[in-house]
Amino acid sequence: MNSEETTLKLQNKVAIVTGGGSGLGRAMCIRLARDGARVVVADLNLAAARDTVAAIAAEQGEAVAMQADVARREDVERVARDTVARFGAIDVLVNNAGIVGEFVKTAEVSDESWDRVLNVNLKSIFFFCRQAIPQMLKQGGGVIINIASTAGLVATTAGIEYTAAKHAVVGITKEIAYEYGQQNIRAVAIAPGVIMTPMIENLPKEFLDASADFQKQLRAPSGRPGRPEEVASVVSFLASDDASFIHGNTLAVDGGFTLF
Ligand code: NAP
Repeated sequence: MNSEETTLKLQNKVAIVTGGGSGLGRAMCIRLARDGARVVVADLNLAAARDTVAAIAAEQGEAVAMQADVARREDVERVARDTVARFGAIDVLVNNAGIVGEFVKTAEVSDESWDRVLNVNLKSIFFFCRQAIPQMLKQGGGVIINIASTAGLVATTAGIEYTAAKHAVVGITKEIAYEYGQQNIRAVAIAPGVIMTPMIENLPKEFLDASADFQKQLRAPSGRPGRPEEVASVVSFLASDDASFIHGNTLAVDGGFTLF
């Protein structure tokens, strides 16, 4: 993969991808490694993270698995510390790990779902950015890519706790870009539409068939749900110098879901 003759666009960059053991995160890890990055696959599920590492190793890429609950500050600190100890830098941070809420209307949402979704989908990003930014400043820069959702841009049936977290991801991405852009840290976000990953596939089929969001995705210009690789390619672009003038935006990678 790291041929001496060709310089890949992320050659020798060190990337952390949270939730890298499944779905979008796995596709991102594989794509970043193909483009030359050394990848830290951080996931709650160590076996799943190791599977991603094995897929990368099978293509002669370099990756390491780290177990972490991104909602736990100690775990985030450990992953950042171990990444620097192992690879000497954090060039790219992809805050991807996320969970869904209860898919009920506001009046029925439990305290537990609110806290769980906000902690995993939002607070974790604050933890990771707070940990990675000093290292990026020390190195002279870096790229932070936060995975939001179309539920971070418009109303959906995802529920108030998911919507609150994802709208906040869009907001904190702007704030980080504003605070650190002139110190060569680019912060950007992606809002995926419906992408076929275990998060979606594990929903009951009847629920999916009846889901207004799924049906809207089928009526969107793409006429279909997305594939994880279609988000991973955008992550790789945003991580690279090809995206050097993109700061603070949230890019909808949604097949047209948010057009109407
Ligand atoms: P996924 O297939 O469920 O993968 C998520 C991964 O994150 C899993 O490996 C999961 O581990 C891990 N994870 C969950 N909680 C974690 C925690 N506390 N600490 C560390 N890792 C944790 O989901 P996905 O569809 O790839 O979603 C990835 C991101 O895209 C999420 O932020 C999601 O909100 C966003 N997104 C997805 C879609 C979509 O249609 N798929 C659309 C818009 C946005 P376990 O399997 O052990 O739980």
